[in-house]
Amino acid sequence: MPAEGPTKTVAIDVDSVLADVMLVWVDEYNRRHKTNISKNDIVAWDIPTILPVSPGQVYRMFSYVWKYRWREIPPTEASIGEITRRIHRKGYRISIITKRERPTVPYVAKWLDAYDVYSDELLFIYDAVPKANYPFDVLVDDAPKNLIDVVPPKSAILFNQPWNRTFQWPVRVSLLSEAEKLL
Ligand SMILES: [Mg+2]
Repeated sequence: MPAEGPTKTVAIDVDSVLADVMLVWVDEYNRRHKTNISKNDIVAWDIPTILPVSPGQVYRMFSYVWKYRWREIPPTEASIGEITRRIHRKGYRISIITKRERPTVPYVAKWLDAYDVYSDELLFIYDAVPKANYPFDVLVDDAPKNLIDVVPPKSAILFNQPWNRTFQWPVRVSLLSEAEKLL
């Protein structure tokens, strides 16, 4: 990083923060199970506690959606790319951090390019190292398990999703553009 460059890093999650992937996941679930659930029905992080699927099925379908239906995955708001650019112009280094299965990586990269998402680095995590261990100042994420380990001087903004409504967290946003205003 050049000395005159941004001094703060904002880490932004991909799944359900930039990419509204659960809309397509739910659609795929409905096709396979002849059901009619919506994303709002996914009120728990642990999907097998609310739907008759195994953890393995959840992740396999998640990978399937990224691999075969990534073009259908919408951004969480229009002009998401421009919002990432504006955050960068505010003086932030942008680190896209996403924990996922290795085979989905090229499709996530294509998706980020398709929506012109700005990033200074792109971190694909395959193991169980907590996101909080990575270098950032502010994390924007929808997963309670990624936020609980974040301690000052780092901070985290929870991205509202149906599965994190009951999680106690002081700073919440429903759009990346709302997070932008807090930075
Ligand atoms: Mg996520």
